[in-house]
Amino acid sequence: MIHEESFEGVGLSSNVYVLKSAEGYLIFDASGHPDLLSFLTGVGIEKDRILGVFLTHGHYDHVTGLTSLLGANIKAFLNLKDLNLMKSCIGSREVSDISEGISLLEKIGLKALPTPGHTPGSTCFYSEGESFLISGDTVFADGYFGRTDLIGGSNSDMKSSLKYLSSLEVKSLLPGHGSYILDGGSKAISLALLNANYLL
Ligand SMILES: [Zn+2]
Repeated sequence: MIHEESFEGVGLSSNVYVLKSAEGYLIFDASGHPDLLSFLTGVGIEKDRILGVFLTHGHYDHVTGLTSLLGANIKAFLNLKDLNLMKSCIGSREVSDISEGISLLEKIGLKALPTPGHTPGSTCFYSEGESFLISGDTVFADGYFGRTDLIGGSNSDMKSSLKYLSSLEVKSLLPGHGSYILDGGSKAISLALLNANYLL
């Protein structure tokens, strides 16, 4: 079930996905809104039931809301290759490497896939059972891929990450920006790979 809400007046912000399990909520990306927590509690997500927040990468429009979540003792996970990138956006914060959050992800059948290219630590989260991919800024629903010209970006890494993602069965594609699609995710990824091979 998808329930959509949007922020107003924040400027550039990532999408935030909330997955619910019997034990609680997992949050994916923290948006560009410094007080993401108030927003989440405002739509009925009890903070004591948030098990953790996973970041697809360290850019400010994905990590700024972390401040409010960490203030409520919610554990945060990031591929630490992006730690300095995150620090340059919101200062030094206590986050753990994604490898330490694997058991939380497994509770809802998710795998963390390293997909460098947009940043060195970019990570996608994949559910094989339900064929959905939380793709951060690696691949978008319109068949394009994330920028590779920012600090730590790599054209060749982006191409290999997209090649790898195109080998997966993806129905729903839940990207870091813009709209998501519930069907045809693999098609969008294959198109992004074609575009990347042509443009990069
Ligand atoms: Zn980004």
